[in-house]
Amino acid sequence: MTNNSLQSRKTEAFARGQGNIYPVYVEHAKNAELWDVEGKRYIDFGTGIAVCNTGHSHPKIVEAAKQQIDKFSHTCVMVNPYEVAVTLAEKLTAAAPGDSPKKAIFVTTGAEAVENCVKIARAHTGRRGVIAFNGGFHGRTNLTMALTGKVTPYKNLFGPFPSDIFHAPFPMERHDVSVKDSLKALNNLFKVDICPTDVAAIIVEPVQGEGGFYVAPPEFLQALRKLCDQHGIMLIADEIQSGFGRTGKMFAFEYSGVEPDLMTMAKGIAGGFPISAVVGKSEIMDAPLPGGLGGTYGGSPVACAAALAVLEVIEEENLVQRSVEIGDLFNQRLTQLQLQYPEVILDVRNQGAMIAIEFVKNGDPEQPNTALTQAIIANAAEHGLVLLACGFYGNVIRFLPALTISNETINEGLDKFNSLFESV
Ligand code: PLP
Repeated sequence: MTNNSLQSRKTEAFARGQGNIYPVYVEHAKNAELWDVEGKRYIDFGTGIAVCNTGHSHPKIVEAAKQQIDKFSHTCVMVNPYEVAVTLAEKLTAAAPGDSPKKAIFVTTGAEAVENCVKIARAHTGRRGVIAFNGGFHGRTNLTMALTGKVTPYKNLFGPFPSDIFHAPFPMERHDVSVKDSLKALNNLFKVDICPTDVAAIIVEPVQGEGGFYVAPPEFLQALRKLCDQHGIMLIADEIQSGFGRTGKMFAFEYSGVEPDLMTMAKGIAGGFPISAVVGKSEIMDAPLPGGLGGTYGGSPVACAAALAVLEVIEEENLVQRSVEIGDLFNQRLTQLQLQYPEVILDVRNQGAMIAIEFVKNGDPEQPNTALTQAIIANAAEHGLVLLACGFYGNVIRFLPALTISNETINEGLDKFNSLFESV
């Protein structure tokens, strides 16, 4: 079995809409590394798109999942519930930012968590409108596509989309969009497109993920909180990519001191087991009628058991603090590279271990260098490295290492990245 033979079979068996970045077929993975079917080793700086924050196959998480499967693997939390789901809901409501009493629901994917936030916000307010941000990403279902602020490749060919969704610019100082500009555009939207008393929710990523790792300034999130309070709008934090220690806090909203009304959790929640959650203020969460939320697989007992183990690993191994150290090391090394190549590396930015490097032509922020980024990504596998792109123009490389990675492996991976970068 080779990577090429598997890629030919996959091309025949899979629709192209679910294509893959690398023709590298994983045989096994451990912590921050993976091995393909031909025995080649890779350093994984993608963690399955910010999922394996606790590393691949952490023994404690594997054991928790195995023990749960031995007991039972499914009964449906809406039919015969079980203790692991209750304990997980208690722990997540306690871990969410802010002091208000909170409740949770479990679903299966990030997009479903976003959809359910909107359902709950609409049920609570009786309003229709939802505001999201340009460059934001919220998923691939019909409503979350509509919320997503980037067309290609997520929205092409898929309309019509649900109505009553509006977009405003996200602050990006590096591209001359200030917090003030963004707030002004929001206020303009209220004058021209939708009355604020018709808006159910504003949804925001504290760090835009797919959009290019732009960090929302704390004063922006504070201003959104104020605006929402003023008009009775629900503030939804989409922490799907930024949660579970990834940014140097348990949740990135903590940097602003802002308590959202509702928030999404997914990806890093369970080390790869499919589960997501909505956590929000109790009186808001209880707006929908019984049976209106959830799904057959939402809150799978195996995923709940894995998620409980993930929370323990984050605490026992100090992964929130470790995320800061990882981010500092990446930033320091990538900044050295930027000093060497100021014409093509516009920016190195990070919040904890959510790290990005942005490529342009001629040092010009208005000339994204998508071709260079694609060339680096395409050659990464050759160099034994897994890298992911992001950004509105696909000209940003994002680093999402396991928070359990050693400095030695980071340095080895970044040595590979430097030589890869210099060879393209
Ligand atoms: N929201 C954010 C911020 C994300 O990063 C993602 C996935 O990348 C999603 C929503 C959608 O999650 P899923 O792919 O699990 O549906």
